[in-house]
Amino acid sequence: MKLEAPISEVRGVGPKTEAALEKAGLKTVKDLLYYLPRTYDNFEEITKLSNIKPGKVVIKGKISDLHTTRTRRRNFTVTEGVIRDNTDAIRVVWFNQPYRATSFDEKKEYYFTGNYDFNRGRYQLTSPKAELASDVEKSRATFRPVYSVRSGFKSEGFHKLIENLRPEFAFIPDLLPETGTAFSKPGARADALFKAHFAENSAEIKEARNYLAFEELFELILASQLNKQENQKLRSAKIPFVADDIKNLVKNLPFPLTNAQRLAAFQILKDLEKPTPMNRLLQGDVGSGKTVVAAISAFSAIRAKKQVALLAPTAILATQHAESLRELLQPFGIKTELLIGSTKQKTDLKTRIKNGEVDLVIGTHALLTDDTEFRDLAFVIIDEQHRFGVSQRQKLLEKTVKTTGLAPHLLMMTATPIPRSLQLAVFGDLDVSILNEMPRGRQPVKTTIIKELNFKDELYPKIREYLGRNEQVYFICKKIDEKGVSEAVSVKKQAEKLKKVFPNVKIACLHGKMKPDEKDAIMTDFANNKTKILVSTTVVEVGVNVPNANLMVIMNAEGYGLAQLHQLRGRVGRGKSKAECFLVANADEPSRRLKELEKSTDGFYLAEADLKLRGPGEIYGSLQHGALNLQFATLMDTKLIAAASTAAKNCAIKFAKNPETFDLFPELKQGIKQYQQLTTLN
Ligand code: ADP
Ligand code: MG
Repeated sequence: MKLEAPISEVRGVGPKTEAALEKAGLKTVKDLLYYLPRTYDNFEEITKLSNIKPGKVVIKGKISDLHTTRTRRRNFTVTEGVIRDNTDAIRVVWFNQPYRATSFDEKKEYYFTGNYDFNRGRYQLTSPKAELASDVEKSRATFRPVYSVRSGFKSEGFHKLIENLRPEFAFIPDLLPETGTAFSKPGARADALFKAHFAENSAEIKEARNYLAFEELFELILASQLNKQENQKLRSAKIPFVADDIKNLVKNLPFPLTNAQRLAAFQILKDLEKPTPMNRLLQGDVGSGKTVVAAISAFSAIRAKKQVALLAPTAILATQHAESLRELLQPFGIKTELLIGSTKQKTDLKTRIKNGEVDLVIGTHALLTDDTEFRDLAFVIIDEQHRFGVSQRQKLLEKTVKTTGLAPHLLMMTATPIPRSLQLAVFGDLDVSILNEMPRGRQPVKTTIIKELNFKDELYPKIREYLGRNEQVYFICKKIDEKGVSEAVSVKKQAEKLKKVFPNVKIACLHGKMKPDEKDAIMTDFANNKTKILVSTTVVEVGVNVPNANLMVIMNAEGYGLAQLHQLRGRVGRGKSKAECFLVANADEPSRRLKELEKSTDGFYLAEADLKLRGPGEIYGSLQHGALNLQFATLMDTKLIAAASTAAKNCAIKFAKNPETFDLFPELKQGIKQYQQLTTLN
């Protein structure tokens, strides 16, 4: 049976099953083979009730005291009972499965598989699966795969289909070319897939997953390497690096550049000189000064009579960029314009952009519309690049290719540090510059964990102190205003409370549900020191710069991830004066996460710490599932990533030398094409 054969060719797949599977995205035999068990029931590892701990358990025991109650909510039943083995007894509960009350023989032993957890005030086994012990033992399948239900198609169903395919596994062709690892041994793939579905112990599962993760990483990284090669084939405008010109600009900056900024700018200017498009990521912690690096590179392109576009994720941010870049570049006769949703006389502006009368256009998604055309766009800068989808970037790039026949140079900026170990897997086709140094004179933000109980004694005097120096305060809350939400989490309620404590102070609210104009007005007032305390949701998170705001209070700090807290904190301490951040957590023992923040202000350190604390799944979750679409590998597999990187790089070089060798791996080629579409930028 061919891997690409439709799933209907699998024995047991009738039209109805086919439809259900298709809805779940499983269309071919290959899709089914790669639909791996979510977990495995292990009837060999039985938990004695005297040793039971919360989590997934398999218990062998007898059940009694079964009864069903109906709750006040209509049609809602709770069936309860007691499970006993020869060591102890526990409570078991099923919801809305009243038949359970009569489906057991109290004299017989069963295997119960499920979660033992704390629920409704006590520990219990919740909605376990139950099977007669004699049945399980007869079948001798002590290790059994459990598949996730898909479109109503159950685990048992998958089990049967895979069982029907059992004889086919031996014929699964290899996928990988020589990689110098055990993963490319003949039969390695068939072996892995077989073990994944018919594992007899956990070692086999690990082996199988390892192979599949490698295969996946290899494809992903190879795709990005091939992208890189493709990119090198494109042409773009050469932008000469005129050292005297750049020196002149740098001399006129209000501050000396940090060494990291110098190096990054140099790398970018060197890239821009090449006839192939730059594809570079500028990573730098909040406040590390990415904007001025962008300004220097834009300046160089504009001097070469090219147009530059800077794309920002929010109107506030675009506006701020426009202001600061205009200030830096206007003395050199450079025309900078802002294009956001609320821009007046858009048509006129667009005409001027099209005629090449504007050198630098800064904007939000408004830049991406079809009727925004450039005369000679050669360089695109994207701030907070993770906020943009691939398709949006693509649009801007296609636009350029269409009008000039050349691909634009691309500089992406991000304040989210990606640990080195993950870089290649995540951004394999990008060159990276890092700002690992803060501007001189910048003091680390002093961070303190505080309880709400202590506001009166510890926080309010602080606020008075900062206000007394005519400095400003951020108050970050989780929600806007919902019924039943406490002061701690509601922007509006917190603002009311603060107004009572500080009756003569101008306090404003900011949140995402406001209209863009309204938000801008409030942010502008705050930036101009007209309001003193800004009570806001995390909409201030992204890049907004108010150097006079030096105190930040984050309510319910436990409710945010480390990276997000770090980003938020980066809103203060942007000037020369000292700055502080209070993390409000009411538990007696604050989490490791908050303690790490208290300890460090280094974004790269915190990213590594976060990676260790939570694992990459959660941090890069959306990236992983959205952009990278990893099914088997996790970004935690650093060793595997390293092995896959080396192999993929070597392979990319080989394929570049002898393209026909790539044709020997049609399945790989096909798979790569899909990845390339995901990650390609040009
Ligand atoms: P981010 O990297 O977060 O985008 P910004 O570019 O907004 O940081 O810079 C943060 C602040 O630091 C700005 O007020 C900017 O003018 C200032 N700044 C940037 N570079 C330097 C420097 N080398 N010395 C002093 N201040 C700097
Ligand atoms: Mg920024």
